[in-house]
Amino acid sequence: MTRPTLEVRSPLDGSVLASLPVHGADEVRAAVARARSAQAEWGSLSPRERARRMRAVARLMDVRGDELAASVRRETGKPPTEALAEVVVSVDLIRWYARVAARHLRPRRASTGWILSKAGSVERVPHGVIGAITPWNYPLILALDCVTPALFAGNGVVLKPSELTPLTALLLPALLEEAGVPKGLLQIVTGDGSTGRALVQGGVDRVVFTGSTATGRKVMEAACATLTPVTLELGGKDPAIVLEDADLERAARGIVFGALFNAGQTCISVERVYVVRSVYEPFVQRVVELVRELRTGKGEDTDVGPLISRAQMAIVERQVADAVQGGARVLTGGKRAAPDTGVYLPTVLVDADDSMAVMRDESFGPLLPIVPVDDEEEAARRANGTRYGLFASVWTGDRARGFRIARRLHAGGVSVNDVLTHYSIASLPMGGVGESGFGRRRGLEALDEMTRTRTLLVDRFGLKREPYWFPYSRASARLMRAVLAWRARGGWSGLRSLAARLTSREG
Ligand code: NDP
Repeated sequence: MTRPTLEVRSPLDGSVLASLPVHGADEVRAAVARARSAQAEWGSLSPRERARRMRAVARLMDVRGDELAASVRRETGKPPTEALAEVVVSVDLIRWYARVAARHLRPRRASTGWILSKAGSVERVPHGVIGAITPWNYPLILALDCVTPALFAGNGVVLKPSELTPLTALLLPALLEEAGVPKGLLQIVTGDGSTGRALVQGGVDRVVFTGSTATGRKVMEAACATLTPVTLELGGKDPAIVLEDADLERAARGIVFGALFNAGQTCISVERVYVVRSVYEPFVQRVVELVRELRTGKGEDTDVGPLISRAQMAIVERQVADAVQGGARVLTGGKRAAPDTGVYLPTVLVDADDSMAVMRDESFGPLLPIVPVDDEEEAARRANGTRYGLFASVWTGDRARGFRIARRLHAGGVSVNDVLTHYSIASLPMGGVGESGFGRRRGLEALDEMTRTRTLLVDRFGLKREPYWFPYSRASARLMRAVLAWRARGGWSGLRSLAARLTSREG
């Protein structure tokens, strides 16, 4: 039987970049076993020593930034600045964990309350081997978003990158090894959805999945059989709200960037805009001007590059056609740059209603539908009218008002007068609510997800028998009642106020 392979093609010119194996269940299990054996050494190192070696990884990545970015550009087609940004953001993440991880992972003493005869503590220990499954839109960032906290926490990782963009991930194991990370700790398995499914059921201790909501459901279902815990980072339909007191120039520029960065193929891209009616016309006009100035194409000097695949192009074209059929108007764009390119022109749509696919379903393309609303009330209500809840932005001249609205939005996070930048700040956790998934990547929260707690308790007094052990007696029941009565009188604080009363009387 011939072994199945996958061909990786560049969206820049359609050339075949590599032909890779589609790893099956046995190969995936073997990769998990290799990662597990390397993890035994890595997990036994102190968090400080792990951080020292990971700093060396960051240094190597800084030096090889151009090489890594070139690989990202080749397999995604994105402009060079965006490919380089992947390296910058990833290295920042590694450097930040190198500063904070050892401290966060320290064991902590835990109070034992009224049970004074015991001492308790809580340790954070690695899960073992993490199975990471990643999509194609940010081949470096999204791989390292999972791999970095997992390694700092002491785990091994088996990573299954998207079949469309596996090549950058394949550069990572050698880079880690060169920096002193044990050989085999990061395993890459290549293939399609079947390889991803095999990984979920391949004996890993936790799965971190980044991808669409539909596949996230399948992953959770498959993980259910072995009760393997999962983190799901899924799709979004992020709203932007523009209020009448916003700096319209900043809002327009920010929203154009937020909607069209990486040709809109970003989980947290702006996918729909609600603008208060009094500033709607000037806002739309400025957005259209800015969008028309953008350079599109596959060359080095472009702002908006090609879409990743024909399938992605088909989704975008279908959403625009449906919207236009339903009465929406295209103010600019609305078609491919040229019939045979993979570039779709950045598109501004008006007169779309919330029932249309372009307002309801993830577009993952360069589409920017803008809708007028009466006031902030309507804007917040319509922004929340989604099954997703990844990110959102609010644009206003009044910061307190911005935060007030932000707190009403059903989302994993909200930016006020900004967009996308939060993703480049390593300390900020990233993740959604609703059909955008659960669990968090990045931030200290990701270290918590990449570890489990181990509780330790030790007896301090060494009595032959505790008063509440067998055999029970009247005295043991009296003890329980005494504890309840003592609590009813206020416990330690009751004792403190009694002492205060006594001392003031004596005084
Ligand atoms: P998919 O869900 O199609 O694929 C994601 C990954 O899962 C790929 O590696 C894919 O492999 C793999 N996969 C496919 N089927 C299965 C299966 N049955 N079991 C296990 N793994 C499987 O997403 P896309 O690659 O199309 O990425 C786009 C999506 O990712 C968008 O919805 C976007 O919003 C979301 N995303 C979310 C982010 C977040 O942080 N919340 C960040 C970035 C993207 P293969 O590609 O080889 O088929």
